[in-house]
Amino acid sequence: MDMVSGNDHLFMNPDEGGLAILGATPAFPSPVHVGQPNIGDREALLERIDAILDSRWLSNRGRQVLEFEQRMAQLVGTRHCIAMCNATVALEIVARAVDLSGEVIVPAMTFVATAHSLQWQGITPVFCDIDSLTHQIDVEQVESLITPHTTGILAVHLWGRPCNIDALARLAEKHHLKLIFDAAHALGCTYRGMPLGGFGNAEVFSFHATKIANAFEGGVVTTNDDALAEKIRLMQNFGFKGTDNVIHLGINGKMHEVSAAMGITSLDSLGLFMERNRANAAAYRDGLGDVPGLRMLEWDARERNNYHYVVLELDEDRAGIDRDTLLAVLQAENVLARRYFWPGCHRMEPYRSLPRYVGLNLPATEKVLSRVLVLPTGTATDGERIARICQIVRRAITQSERVRRQFASNEYNDLS
Ligand SMILES: *Cc1c(COP(=O)(O)O)cnc(C)c1O
Repeated sequence: MDMVSGNDHLFMNPDEGGLAILGATPAFPSPVHVGQPNIGDREALLERIDAILDSRWLSNRGRQVLEFEQRMAQLVGTRHCIAMCNATVALEIVARAVDLSGEVIVPAMTFVATAHSLQWQGITPVFCDIDSLTHQIDVEQVESLITPHTTGILAVHLWGRPCNIDALARLAEKHHLKLIFDAAHALGCTYRGMPLGGFGNAEVFSFHATKIANAFEGGVVTTNDDALAEKIRLMQNFGFKGTDNVIHLGINGKMHEVSAAMGITSLDSLGLFMERNRANAAAYRDGLGDVPGLRMLEWDARERNNYHYVVLELDEDRAGIDRDTLLAVLQAENVLARRYFWPGCHRMEPYRSLPRYVGLNLPATEKVLSRVLVLPTGTATDGERIARICQIVRRAITQSERVRRQFASNEYNDLS
């Protein structure tokens, strides 16, 4: 163990210095958030909004939505793209459109919307463990979870890294299952050089404010299946085909024009957002590369990546402090790092109280979720901020013993 203690002889270390949790002034005067929205060209957005108001066409596939859908389809290389009010409703509609029922296998390590989109409509999410190195769904376990009730797999490209698509596709084919991807994190990313968006029966992207590109709120379904696209279009607009002709059960999942205008504006700047994130990730790597007990999740240099999540894993035995203590240290400095997706869907309501999930044990998920911390990036973050954040992390670990004692003795141990 190369645990570093906070003994007095270490005060010569240049990384040593004041920490707010030990009484110093916070490093940042105002909160630094994870997922601060990226905002593209404001003038271009306002021009689009003016055009929307001038046209008095606010929703129902106006010019902005049509353009946004075209742009997205082009970007991910699919025949169809359907813009939605958000990704959660998009997942729900896709689940219905491909006739999911009974049981559907999902990772427990994801944003809870992935599971809720199934449970909301009476489909049972069957939680699967992950690979602790990549954080992606464990394909071998997926196969072991298949029962006669299983109708599909809803996999997630967690953190924008592609999950093991080829293996999942083989499984889905072998067992006649539908395969859907929650690509909420994965805009702009590739798998074996091909853009995410065209795999499985359909993929769903989120344009929520916290994602790399946003439409304030928004979601997108991409697919190469003509019949499925047609069905999804009906379902998202009350089943209307034409003006007075309802031919299907539907709901309202439409994206409105101002959202689409923001979506287009965001896509216009996607390259800039990705480049900033890439530079930020490199700055974090420079600042944290050799800190004992810290692992920064890698990106595959052979793929195109959006670098939107800076994911740390903290090994308490080697770092001398645990993840929650590091989180408290950062919060005291006004760095609002996040424990995504703690404690895991299976430990959230309604799942944790349902007999089916009581005692469900997902060792890799639980280990990773106890160690993960997500740090701020995006266009609201720059190299100077990152250097300061890295310095805080280094100080917390070089002074781990003092930090741990302080954490045990004061109000910072309540993170709720
Ligand atoms: C953000 C997110 C969603 C939900 O997206 P919304 O557009 O907010 O509904 C779904 N799945 C994952 C993995 C997400 O991160």
